[in-house]
Amino acid sequence: MKRKSEKIVKQVNITEHNKTEEELKQSEEKYRKLYEELKEVNKELRELIIIDPHTELYNFRYFEEVVEKEFEYAKRYSHSLSLVMIDIDYFKSINDVYDHQFGDLVLKQLAKQLKGNVRRYDTVIRFGGEEFVIIFPGVDRAEALNLSNKILSTVNSYNFGNEEHSVRLRLSMGITSYPEDRVTKATDLLDFADQILHKVKEDGGNRVYSSNNIKIRKTPISEDEKKVKSLKEMLDEITRRANQTLIKTISAFIKTIDIESVYTVEHSEKVSKYAVKISKILDLSENEIGLIEEASLLHDIGKIGISRKILFKNGKLTEEEYERVKKHPEIAVDIIRSIRNLHSVIPIILHHHERWNGKGYPDGLKGEDIPLEARIITVADVYHALTSNRPYRKAYSKNEAMEIIKNSSGTDFDPKIVEIFLKILREEK
Ligand code: GH3
Ligand code: MG
Ligand code: MG
Repeated sequence: MKRKSEKIVKQVNITEHNKTEEELKQSEEKYRKLYEELKEVNKELRELIIIDPHTELYNFRYFEEVVEKEFEYAKRYSHSLSLVMIDIDYFKSINDVYDHQFGDLVLKQLAKQLKGNVRRYDTVIRFGGEEFVIIFPGVDRAEALNLSNKILSTVNSYNFGNEEHSVRLRLSMGITSYPEDRVTKATDLLDFADQILHKVKEDGGNRVYSSNNIKIRKTPISEDEKKVKSLKEMLDEITRRANQTLIKTISAFIKTIDIESVYTVEHSEKVSKYAVKISKILDLSENEIGLIEEASLLHDIGKIGISRKILFKNGKLTEEEYERVKKHPEIAVDIIRSIRNLHSVIPIILHHHERWNGKGYPDGLKGEDIPLEARIITVADVYHALTSNRPYRKAYSKNEAMEIIKNSSGTDFDPKIVEIFLKILREEK
């Protein structure tokens, strides 16, 4: 392009040999201006080619150029070079829960965050959809891990979105470094980072790994151990682990899509802790305790379907709003129904708002018609709710909450469970 435009200027000059000196000066000036303009257009065209218009970051085309150059430079001068590949966790769900436009806004904001958190000579690239790459020239693996972890924690604590919705982002990040990773081609840096990123996703996302993390292999189960373990035991173990990962993933997703629901995850974990303690004293089987744990962790997931205007209302709910809140066990079941592995927790979650006297919801079940597991969760749930701050009231003290629970024994709650629970609370440090 540049050479072409110089040629134009030269050619035009040749045809102007019989002009006066003044005229020549003027036309020379004119063509210089034209040349400058061409140069500017040239620059703009190049930017169009190498810049992603939505985020204003460099795009894949530029990445290919720059990574090659940086790699050659690092090899020639024995410098370090690191590359980090970034993929947003659960991004599709953000589009699904809000909309594509909101997703676009979040991508733009993330681009700005990434750009604002690297050094001047680092290059941030929008690699594709919700994937980014950062090239860190002169940075070794240890430093790249350090820089990437800083970026991750900055991004994790930032509220993305607009006045209406705010989301937190989780990122999976895979690092490769020259010379530590012994790559021989620039493209290997990328392929290797991609493999590492896969491992990050496998382990639940929202973390930074380098090749150090993928070398670690858990020791395989020995032949002897396999013999000892019956097939059934192994299957139980696999299912349990799969469910745990599933629940962890669901919890992580809840944290992602709604920042104020963070308290819900914390609440669920506390409820789970107490529910398990009660179950152990009741001498329930390991299988039942496992179910109670899973159900407590998921019991409030249906609140996702209730607007935050209602959930965080700073005053008494209208009848209509209360009716909506009462839907959360059914919404939860609706969500969980699609996960076959979790079907056993459905009755527990559905009935965790029933009351011993039959005045609860959704079915008004009474006494021992309410599943035992649900009765256990109910008590732990109410206790933790009472001892937490709410928009409309301050938290009750432990003693006050225990008193309230005691007074509702036999009306709201199963008296046998209340007795055990109060004993656990009294013995707590
Ligand atoms: P994972 O945790 O496995 O990374 O899940 P994910 O949903 O982030 O990943 P997946 O690769 O399944 O989906 C990526 C999604 O990113 C799919 C697409 O809807 C969304 N996406 C890609 N580009 C854009 C974009 O430019 N704008 C918006 N709003 N969404 C995009
Ligand atoms: Mg992706
Ligand atoms: Mg993703």
